[in-house]
Amino acid sequence: MAHLLFKDVNKVYPNGYHAVHDFNMEIKDGEFICLVGDSGCGKSTTLRMIAGLEEITSGEFYIDGELANQMSSRERGIAMVFQSYALYPHLTVYENLGFGLTLEGIDADVIDEKVKQTAKILGLTEYLERFPRNLSGGQCQRVAVGRALIRKVNIFLMDEPLSNLDAKQRVTMRSEIKQIHRSVGATTIYVTHDQTEAMTMSDRIVVMKSGGYVQQIGTPYELYFHPRNLFVAGFIGEPPMNFIKSVVSGGKIKAGELELDLTPVVKDVKALEGKEVVFAFRPEAIKVQTPAKGKEGGYELDSVVDLTELLGDMTNVYANVGNVNVILKVNPHHTPEMGAHFKFFVPYSAAYVFDCETELAVESDLKRH
Ligand code: ADP
Repeated sequence: MAHLLFKDVNKVYPNGYHAVHDFNMEIKDGEFICLVGDSGCGKSTTLRMIAGLEEITSGEFYIDGELANQMSSRERGIAMVFQSYALYPHLTVYENLGFGLTLEGIDADVIDEKVKQTAKILGLTEYLERFPRNLSGGQCQRVAVGRALIRKVNIFLMDEPLSNLDAKQRVTMRSEIKQIHRSVGATTIYVTHDQTEAMTMSDRIVVMKSGGYVQQIGTPYELYFHPRNLFVAGFIGEPPMNFIKSVVSGGKIKAGELELDLTPVVKDVKALEGKEVVFAFRPEAIKVQTPAKGKEGGYELDSVVDLTELLGDMTNVYANVGNVNVILKVNPHHTPEMGAHFKFFVPYSAAYVFDCETELAVESDLKRH
């Protein structure tokens, strides 16, 4: 296992493009970290700097307290799994798994034992004599993971390892990778643009935005319930949070015919007077029962249903509240009719306010749950 520390790490490519800005983070021994963000936000660049495949332009990167900026990939004790499995097509699964060890000149007996042990962990025992062309995408990915696993490493790096798989295989591999991590315990950094993957697999997530700026680092729970800014609020959650933009006047916002008093939600409503804010709530946070009074209460809203989408476990409702469009998630057994009036509540504890100028969440005393 390994402890990693990044101090103001920056990457500027030779063409002058500044791909990662002031990356600061401490990663504990054995943590599973996801770097998540849209394509081009600097995730792979960060991963490649950890791997020693890309030079760090400025800042310091430490592995177990030792400055690692100049260390070779080999010295860092890493294994990496790429999106393209990069298997050798002319070698069997057995040979693919053992290839790295053979190169290191390890005894055939030892290799045999390790290959069989790794194949067992990954459920590949019966495929050892097959060639990659005769494997499914999921099996190829398992071989790629196995090839990295077989070497005793302290840091496991994965770059979008599941993106070539179909949706069902992705879900299976997600839990397999988690289980492998649990049993192997290596510090793992996993790059993905898929927020569900990040939410389900990580101990902590790093949300990055284009230009290579870290937006928030936190547990999946923290990011979901305490997004630091508008970007994270909009990025985490599917369908995304409802955003209603408006200027605060008399402690209230007005959008369309909607008028909402911000007093129960923010700590210092006076400080927001005259400012443009975004009022936000998650589609799944709404309630259909009358809210309690006081701080436990909520906004009572009346909408007209434009469209419904039955997903099975729930229904997405596209509705109009006083000329503001919102998406709501409701119990499929209580799906409202299209065109019908639909009354719902946004609990105060599920309402967020963001300052449009800073894009930061406005402080609130509410307990989020
Ligand atoms: P991500 O993994 O988040 O999709 P990358 O780290 O691959 O993003 O790339 C971040 C940005 O750096 C992108 O805009 C990309 O075009 C740019 N970039 C990547 N590699 C190079 C390079 N060798 N030279 C110049 N720019 C690069």
